Amino acid sequence: MTAKNMEDLVSLCKRRGFIFPSNDVYGGMKGLYDFGPIGVELKMNLKNSWWKSIVYERDDIEGLDSTILTSPTVLKYSGHEDTFSDPLVDCKKCKSRWRADQLENSQCPACNSNDLTEPRPFNLMFKTAIGPVDDGSSFAYLRPETAQQIFVNFKNIIDSTSRTPPFGIAQIGKSFRNEITPRNFIFRVREFEQMELEFFVKPGSDEDWHKYWVDQRLKWWSKQGVSSDKLKLLEVEQEELSHYSKATFDIMYEFPHGLEELEGVANRTDFDLGSHTKNQEDYEINAKVTPNKNSTTKLAIQDIESKKWYIPYVIEPSAGVERGVLAILNEAYTQEDENNRTVLKLKSHLSPIKAAVIPLKRNNSDLVNLANKIKVELQSLGLGRVMIENSGNIGKNYRRHDEIGTPMCITIDFETLENQSVTIRDRDTMKQERVDLSNISNFYSNYFKNN
Ligand code: ATP
Repeated sequence: MTAKNMEDLVSLCKRRGFIFPSNDVYGGMKGLYDFGPIGVELKMNLKNSWWKSIVYERDDIEGLDSTILTSPTVLKYSGHEDTFSDPLVDCKKCKSRWRADQLENSQCPACNSNDLTEPRPFNLMFKTAIGPVDDGSSFAYLRPETAQQIFVNFKNIIDSTSRTPPFGIAQIGKSFRNEITPRNFIFRVREFEQMELEFFVKPGSDEDWHKYWVDQRLKWWSKQGVSSDKLKLLEVEQEELSHYSKATFDIMYEFPHGLEELEGVANRTDFDLGSHTKNQEDYEINAKVTPNKNSTTKLAIQDIESKKWYIPYVIEPSAGVERGVLAILNEAYTQEDENNRTVLKLKSHLSPIKAAVIPLKRNNSDLVNLANKIKVELQSLGLGRVMIENSGNIGKNYRRHDEIGTPMCITIDFETLENQSVTIRDRDTMKQERVDLSNISNFYSNYFKNN
């Protein structure tokens, strides 16, 4: 399986309404993409699958939905103002700008010149003015990760839920990075979503929990249809670690453009809570943190047995939604020359449309009324979007639904009116079977239970 190249995916995404360049009418903007009618469903299904496995199927994780606009003070103590940068070089010949660590042989990819400036740090955070006066005195950052608002909500959450470690806080939402060279479709963009879990543990138990979460996350990706042989685990070298990390495992995936990071699982130690807590001197903080006299809140936990207060360590699995969508599309993309079709063999829980209901003849009121009834019945089962295709061109409908990964097409024909049965066509096998109208809900629910 998997697509031959990125162009196949880009073209399918545009043609079938998964993903469009953003601001398209005015020529688009680099590193920004919009999710269309089909893409929004796939993205939502992926996020729901993550939320279900992280929050609902466990009993040690709470959710959060915090603001994107973030106080500079939070991002000062988190270390992002000082260290969240990539090395930028200018080509002196053609004036283009590049990320120094992504160049081959220190050569400008645009004009091949070796006459480049020395690398200098370029901070990736976007700033915006807050309030009606834009004189630079009052600004916020668009968050570069969702994690910081989890840390600064730590006390609100433990006070309102009575949680003690080990427990986690999960959040899905937008993050922004002013990437020097956005590229490879939705792989590296300037606005994207992250699915982040901050899992708080007692110091000393962090290394075991770290292994546990790497393992959980690998299993989850494989349940989304990402084949294990395309996933590689890479331990990040000491000198490459982010400023907050003691150890990080990157879950790498063989994207169409190469092996790159899909998700990072970091041991952030007590760096973040230790950075944001008040009275830092009261605790044994292992990470190197900036002295903080501004915090109003104690971000520590009392050990039940020893009664000693401590700052929990945190393990962070952080996955990009767009990179997840790209990996899943790549895995599902199948070109079947023998059947002259492209088919997206998505896991059924991720399919944007769960079933298409197709009246064989367009605008025939008997067929269309029945199709509507079936749509309403299946829609009410709450498994996702069911849609009617009233174009009267069954071949075209099948082709479209193969390409967007709809698991089943339900056709209402004239026989239906006589014997109360419909034809259900399976996406993967293309086999058709007659199912009684009275049994459609059962058939549909069983399919999603078993696939
Ligand atoms: P990279 O090294 O590829 O720039 P990173 O190590 O900076 O990624 P993290 O800070 O670990 O990324 O962010 C966690 C996850 O967020 C990444 O694994 C990735 O899935 C996603 N992500 C980060 N930056 C981007 C981006 N510019 N576009 C899309 N997804 C991103």
